[in-house]
Amino acid sequence: MKIKADLHNHLSTFSNIPREFNKTIDITKKRLGTKGILGIINTNDKRYETFSNLSGYDRENIGNALYIPKKDIWVLRGQEVFTKQGHLIVVGLEAGFNLQNNRNLEDSLKESKDNKGIIIAVHSFFIGGIGPYLIKNHKLLKYFDGIEVRNGEAFYGNKKAKMFYELIKDDFDLGALSFSDGHSLYEIGNCYTSLNNFSFNDSEELNNNLRESIKQHKKYSKDKQHFSFLGSLEHSLKFAPIAAFSKIKN
Ligand SMILES: [Zn+2]
Repeated sequence: MKIKADLHNHLSTFSNIPREFNKTIDITKKRLGTKGILGIINTNDKRYETFSNLSGYDRENIGNALYIPKKDIWVLRGQEVFTKQGHLIVVGLEAGFNLQNNRNLEDSLKESKDNKGIIIAVHSFFIGGIGPYLIKNHKLLKYFDGIEVRNGEAFYGNKKAKMFYELIKDDFDLGALSFSDGHSLYEIGNCYTSLNNFSFNDSEELNNNLRESIKQHKKYSKDKQHFSFLGSLEHSLKFAPIAAFSKIKN
């Protein structure tokens, strides 16, 4: 059996996330289906923690994820880590603390491993991507569990991310992933990855088995790979107007 995972969502551009727990869960259930996994990704904030404390459906908290029995879906904690060389996401970290930002990529990778996180290169050839650095420092790929070959908000760079994955996939055991990188409720499930199902009893098993399932995922043509023009435009206008427009011009 396959399960749908959209592990890269921020819910809002800023940390003031939508406060509708049930609505978020209902949308997730509709778009990702039974046993779907929604990743809520902290930036410089604790949006996962804020979300997990909103009132709404009953939930079981296993430390790094919430299970919503009524809908049979999971919400997983993650963080987008900003390094000197670009961004990555680390999912499955225990709730309550964030990894440090603004370090060298190698230091952040080690810190992520020490905390048993699942490490994913995101929008590697878009704004803030670490792709160019990874090309020059191949050996760092051994730290990664997956790479986004499709980021729902990147209006360039996905093709290059796929090419990069095809080039390195025989030398490194990485999964090829498609995620929304959504900044609103309506982007949940815009992109997702159909992973092999797995079972687990606690947060550690969740990480180990999800990591394994991610690494097994080498073929991505059947994943959902929509592009969110509005989400992308909004995100880019707020965060990187100069970079974005110079690319459009070119
Ligand atoms: Zn992101």
